[in-house]
Amino acid sequence: MKVRRRCGGNNWGEIDEQQGEGYSPDNRINNRDRELKIYQAKTAGQVSTAMVGDIPIEVYGGTEEQRSLAIDATRDVLTKTDLGKSMQDSFRVRTESSWFGLVKEVQPVDILLVNSGGSGATDLGSNHITLSLKQIGISYPSNPPGGITSYQQVIAHEFGHAALGVPDGFYPAMECVNRVENPIMKQLHPLDFHERTAYGF
Ligand SMILES: [Zn+2]
Repeated sequence: MKVRRRCGGNNWGEIDEQQGEGYSPDNRINNRDRELKIYQAKTAGQVSTAMVGDIPIEVYGGTEEQRSLAIDATRDVLTKTDLGKSMQDSFRVRTESSWFGLVKEVQPVDILLVNSGGSGATDLGSNHITLSLKQIGISYPSNPPGGITSYQQVIAHEFGHAALGVPDGFYPAMECVNRVENPIMKQLHPLDFHERTAYGF
C-alpha cells in the first residue's frame, strides 16, 4: 500500500493506489475500480484507438467525440513539444512480449475518461492515466488570469507522472506543473499561454 501524491484540490486529485483494497477516499479512483471501468467501457463499445508514431493509444469511456478530442490532445502533446518527444521515448522502450516472446511490442498507453472524481496517473512510470471530464473547461489559477483547463493540459500533466516519472512534490506540490505541464502548454500555445500558478482550484 502506498500513499499517493495528489494533483491537488478536489479537482486534480490523483488516483489512490491502495491496490486491491477497494478503498477510494473522497474523489479518487483505485486500480480495481479503474480496471472495472475499462472493462465496462470495452463491453459498451466505448473504446477508441490510435497510433501516435509507434505508440499505441487506447482511450476508454466518454463519448466518441470526447475520446477523439483526447486522442488529438495526446498527439499534440507527444509530437509538438520537446517534452512530449521525451515522453514518446519513455513509452517506446516499455515493451511487452507477444508471439511466445519472439516479438517485442510497444505497450499501449491507456487513457480512461471518467465523469466524476479527479484525474491521475496510476503510478510514476506507468502507462495508465485517468482523465476527469468534469475538469475540462473549468478555470484554473493562472498568470495571466483566464486559464481554462483543456485535454492537452491534463494529459501533459498526467503524462509527466506516467511517462517521465515526475512527482507533484511536496507542498505547494507544483513540481509536475512547473517542470512539465506549464512548459508543454507554453510550447503549444506561445501566444495564448496561461501559466498555472497554483496546484488546486
Ligand atoms: Zn499530479
